[in-house]
Amino acid sequence: MNTNGRYGIHGGQYIPETLMNAVMELDAAYRKFKDDPDFNRELTDLFNNYAGRPSRLYYAEHVTKDLGGAQIFLKREDLNHTGAHKINNVLGQMLLAKHMGKTRVIAETGAGQHGVATATVAAMMGMECEVFMGREDCERQALNVYRMRLLGAKVHPVDTGTATLKDAVSATFREWTTRIADTHYVLGSVMGPAPFPEIVRDFQAVISKEIKQQLHDLCGKLPDAVIACVGGGSNAIGSFYNFINDPSVRLIGCEAAGRGIDTNETAATISTGKLGIFHGMKSYFCQDEYGQIAPVYSISAGLDYPGIGPEHAYLHDIGRAEYVAITDDEAVEAFEYLSRTEGIIPAIESAHAVSYAMKIAPKMSKDQIIVITISGRGDKDVAAIARYKGENLYE
Ligand SMILES: *Cc1c(COP(=O)(O)O)cnc(C)c1O
Repeated sequence: MNTNGRYGIHGGQYIPETLMNAVMELDAAYRKFKDDPDFNRELTDLFNNYAGRPSRLYYAEHVTKDLGGAQIFLKREDLNHTGAHKINNVLGQMLLAKHMGKTRVIAETGAGQHGVATATVAAMMGMECEVFMGREDCERQALNVYRMRLLGAKVHPVDTGTATLKDAVSATFREWTTRIADTHYVLGSVMGPAPFPEIVRDFQAVISKEIKQQLHDLCGKLPDAVIACVGGGSNAIGSFYNFINDPSVRLIGCEAAGRGIDTNETAATISTGKLGIFHGMKSYFCQDEYGQIAPVYSISAGLDYPGIGPEHAYLHDIGRAEYVAITDDEAVEAFEYLSRTEGIIPAIESAHAVSYAMKIAPKMSKDQIIVITISGRGDKDVAAIARYKGENLYE
């Protein structure tokens, strides 16, 4: 499946000469530590004692009854320390960086979730941390900028391009080329040049490893479907990975359609994108008629990336995973539905996955099982949803 950082025609290392040494050093270190028992013991310790793993697999009884079809289970990544799945990858990469002798980490962030997770672990491990964030996003997510500074990180607003996530990624790669010896780039999703998509996937694969074990203990069965939202695709590939060789398990990724896949205000890469090369990888990207990366839009800042990880592109090509597009309206409806029905406020990103489960569960039989990954908690989204609905927070 993964030879030389390729996933079918996707993946690879489309990077400038100046980055090649850093990427090769990372690859060599990862080969060395990947199966090292001490490294993995340390990582499991961090997962359990710091992040709060294993995360719960919760039987959503009320949603199940209400939808009247398949049994619904929620994989509660929202209960992790810092409130999302991102901490899994950050702990893994930063432990690796520490073993490589690095003392400084840099990271990109969109809404600020990955930046906060990186700043958090940097504080805990005593490492220097600098985060690159589009100026537009800094303004929209001022609270997360403050959080990162509180945690001791330096935040650099990025003014190039549209001053959003894709520009922050480019700026972080640029920064890495200027200072490689003591610095590791903690990339936030299953994207970028090899070996990043593989490394991030392996650290997130703990999600599907736990789902498999937990569901086995609870029901003695495999799920019939696993549903997760897709930005770059890290929580989705983490949720899928240990089921790829179980053909009876449907793997469903939910992209952000924004205002609709027939509008220009969308971030649905598989539905609307074309093959391209960007950020060091070959994959599908949202592009304009000239092949330039198109501006993307979603109500969910975490799904607002113009590309998708190369392994997803490949799973789509071979038909092993399905990718569907969920609009802002549908996601907001699911956000409210899960809050009201189960007493769980999901991240608006995760609500995209909930929405698709709401569509298919009623058509499935009562002995079938759907697992939805709740990639994060929704407290961060409450004000934006109120605004979207034209409501005033204080009335
Ligand atoms: C960042 C984020 C995502 C999107 O990133 P993936 O790499 O696609 O998982 C989804 N949900 C939450 C809560 C996030 O913070």
